[in-house]
Amino acid sequence: MSDIDHRSCAQVFARLDDYVDRELSADDLEQVQRHLEICAMCASEFRLEGLLLRTIRDKVRRIALPPGFEARVWKRIDSAGGPAGS
Ligand SMILES: [Zn+2]
Repeated sequence: MSDIDHRSCAQVFARLDDYVDRELSADDLEQVQRHLEICAMCASEFRLEGLLLRTIRDKVRRIALPPGFEARVWKRIDSAGGPAGS
């Protein structure tokens, strides 16, 4: 009882990024979801990719600088003594 259409694996892989980003149309979304339900290979790949994307986004959020931070850093660099001499 294997109705996995492995030809659609390539299509699903191609849409994985859009799927994770929720940028697929309703039809595409349904097609990908249906495939993920029956295809363990794509499902695990999707989990991997989804996890990776979440991790990257978490990191990006964490290093997002508060407003004014950059200015304070530059000020500190300035007051720490510019180029020696003169
Ligand atoms: Zn597949």
